Amino acid sequence: MTEFPFEISPMFEGERVRKEGMFVELGGPKSIGLELVRSKPMDEIEDDKVTIVGPDIKEMEEGKTYPWAMIFNIGGELVEPDLESVVERRVHDFINYCQGIMHLNQRYDVWMRISKDTAGKLDSLEPFGKAVMMLFKTELPFIEKMQVTFYTDEEEVKKQMDEAMEIFRARDARTKDLHDEDVDVFYGCTLCQSFAPTSVCVVSPDRIALCGAINWFDGRAAAKVDPEGPQFEIAKGELLDAKTGEYSGVNEIAKKLSGGEFDKIKLHSFFDSPHTSCGCFEVVGFYIPEVDGIGWVNREFQGMAPNGIGFSTMAGQTGGGKQIIGFLGIGVNYFYSPKFIQADGGWNRVVWLPSMLKEKITEAIPADLVDKIATEKDTPDIASLKAFLQEKNHPVVASWAAAEEEEEEEEEVAEEVAVPAAPMMMPTAGFQIPAMPMMAGGKSGSGIKVTFKNAKITIDRMIISEKKE
Ligand code: SF4
Repeated sequence: MTEFPFEISPMFEGERVRKEGMFVELGGPKSIGLELVRSKPMDEIEDDKVTIVGPDIKEMEEGKTYPWAMIFNIGGELVEPDLESVVERRVHDFINYCQGIMHLNQRYDVWMRISKDTAGKLDSLEPFGKAVMMLFKTELPFIEKMQVTFYTDEEEVKKQMDEAMEIFRARDARTKDLHDEDVDVFYGCTLCQSFAPTSVCVVSPDRIALCGAINWFDGRAAAKVDPEGPQFEIAKGELLDAKTGEYSGVNEIAKKLSGGEFDKIKLHSFFDSPHTSCGCFEVVGFYIPEVDGIGWVNREFQGMAPNGIGFSTMAGQTGGGKQIIGFLGIGVNYFYSPKFIQADGGWNRVVWLPSMLKEKITEAIPADLVDKIATEKDTPDIASLKAFLQEKNHPVVASWAAAEEEEEEEEEVAEEVAVPAAPMMMPTAGFQIPAMPMMAGGKSGSGIKVTFKNAKITIDRMIISEKKE
């Protein structure tokens, strides 16, 4: 077996290279970073070859950030273009197996760091490229030949980025005319269970994976070439609710893969049994109770959402493979889905987006709503967001009046009843804890209703007591 100047093991997967310990940063928020896998005919690939275009590690200056692109070419009898995304998704795993090399994100927002210790052992990035290709060929034996080019020259990286964006767009467009109702099977992926054990990832024609890297066609190609691998078929089963996207087959797999933690996943729901969020989502959706709307913040956005929270804090709250009511991780392409959070109002419920994201996905937004959705440039905080939505007559404004009316209808409640702990943000208008059966001594069968208005709360324990006359 080839010797490498650094250790290689899955145990380095969670290793972080902090700023103090870093030799250089590649890509990331201060620059541009990209990774792309292309399938090529076997005779066009020089197996195991590493090419470096731009400064190699020895020419790099400590503490600096460099633009970065990795273009991998793969070939093999079973290799086909549909497999590119699935192979590409493994770049993250295999780079993180290399000691002292940290890789985050995917596609066009790759962010890497090389530690001082590992950089000290390298005269070139070539052994790193060879190590990653060795891992690919060991773990995915359908790859018979592979070569990689690393770009660190700024002009070259930009050129590669432009070309890659076209390829990503074309990949994402393939599912445009295919919908959940047109197929019998969806696909699941367990890759993220390594760090989010209860995460259940379901990819359907109308819902790209939350990492943004795997669509329905990619899932199909991966399951075909490696039936024992992390991507697998999910029989849809019976359609239980078209609006929320609830299928009996998805519920069964949710129960099985989450170890019983969840028994339902509704593919197009934001509040009720939403898709789990692992941690590598491209965008986080967050409920804004003050306006009864939903905002979305993307990974690249460095500022604060109007609720005063940035992407990384929200991602911490959202990730881990749970169903966190009030937050949802998605892939950017899901904005283009005709079923985009349709159970909760779809685009009519979207009130805020960072301007960079809004610009990127403008085509996905219904024309009559584009100007009604605020960005950080319009509304830095909740008060200004509320005024903006009112001025633009955003569809959520209609729900405010209904919520105010309901607020006046205070209901008497039953004797003491404890509601179990639930870390979540509650939607306001229209969201109610379902009627609960009365405890002994109460008015049997009448039930209670608890309505939260403009609430942003974390509940450890809630006591509801009967009002004494
Ligand atoms: S987000 Fe889902 S599809 Fe993407 S790598 Fe993780 S488990 Fe797989």
